[in-house]
Amino acid sequence: MKVGMIGWRGMVGSVLMQRMHEEHDFTGIDVSFFSTSQAGEAGPAIGNTTAPLLDAHNIKVLAEMDVIVTCQGGDYTQKVHPELRAAGWDGYWIDAASTLRMSADSTIVLDPVNSDIIHSALQAGKKDFIGGNCTVSLMMMGLAGLFKEDVVEWVSSMTYQAASGGGARAMRELIAQMGSLHGSVADLLTEKDSTILSVDDNITAVLRSAALPTGECGAALAGSLIPWIDADLENGQSKEEWKAQAETNKILERDQTDFIPIDGLCVRIGAMRSHSQALTIKLRKDIPLAEIEQIISAGNQWVDLVPNQKEPSIDRLSPAAVSGSLNIPVGRLRKMSFGPEYISAFTVGDQLLWGAAEPLRRMLKLLGERMLVNAKAS
Ligand code: NAP
Repeated sequence: MKVGMIGWRGMVGSVLMQRMHEEHDFTGIDVSFFSTSQAGEAGPAIGNTTAPLLDAHNIKVLAEMDVIVTCQGGDYTQKVHPELRAAGWDGYWIDAASTLRMSADSTIVLDPVNSDIIHSALQAGKKDFIGGNCTVSLMMMGLAGLFKEDVVEWVSSMTYQAASGGGARAMRELIAQMGSLHGSVADLLTEKDSTILSVDDNITAVLRSAALPTGECGAALAGSLIPWIDADLENGQSKEEWKAQAETNKILERDQTDFIPIDGLCVRIGAMRSHSQALTIKLRKDIPLAEIEQIISAGNQWVDLVPNQKEPSIDRLSPAAVSGSLNIPVGRLRKMSFGPEYISAFTVGDQLLWGAAEPLRRMLKLLGERMLVNAKAS
């Protein structure tokens, strides 16, 4: 299987590479690395071998691949995917960007939740397999059991999304902002007699000053937050918020007749990595809390049910605890005062793993296994 990888050095791509190394996924595939900006420079080492990077805009070379995996971004997909298809390329396209997610020809991949739909799409000859929005995928991994049992009437999701959702450069900028803030009060912090109001005044002045680096995040994130993610749909909703309902229902293949309403506000916070979300869930009926916990636990092997108590919640339900892990802790589960069908939940997940790289890695693996079976059969 000839695999072309684009966007491998970005945030999602780096995590994908790391996971593929860990799982020995490079064994048995013939992989070529491409770049939009560094063609000709040395590519990453696979075993003892490195090869120069190929030009990610060269349609002829891209068309030699059986599978293209791209973590490059939406602009790249928008330009190259139609050109490749127009040139007659019939290979599999696996993509982290949102551009093709809602296209009728594409399937959103999150196999612990929709492997049956992925297999049907392959049987039907579909070729475009797209990773879902990070927050949507993490919410669905956490609530998979409730969706499987079809007991969810609607969900309100309020998110706390990490800087890494904005890519490698946003993460660097968050640290630079933290450094600027600390630098502005470092002396005051060591002075025994400095007042907290003088520290706070300095920090607020830096947060509002043009000297704070904001080119990537768009505003102060360290010591603050940004209550808008992605484009303004001009109906009061951000595009990130719109994705929750649109993508969840596509992943579950639910249409106008049986779709599940999902809505909320998406907020960027100064976490480095891993997105969190506070959920209000309206169930279709009153289910005892112990049964709800069982259903959620049984959703998939990565769900980690956290007892709704102070210590385990603080220990296990935070970006600091979760980053780098495939586990999806779900906690703060309780019946809300609105009525017996209303429950709260809080979930955190590494959006670079289940929210981005892992579904793509598993789709590539599945294609490899299918091609092997087909090759043996023919
Ligand atoms: P990113 O970190 O900005 O990387 C994208 C590309 O930018 C790289 O592959 C690289 O391509 C180029 N680049 C330029 N300067 C770079 C630098 N200093 N360090 C690293 N790369 C640099 O973007 P990303 O967060 O991985 O996102 C890629 C796609 O995945 C986007 O469509 C995004 O919406 C989607 N996605 C992201 C997340 C997330 O949590 N970040 C989650 C789900 C989906 P060249 O080598 O070609 O120059």
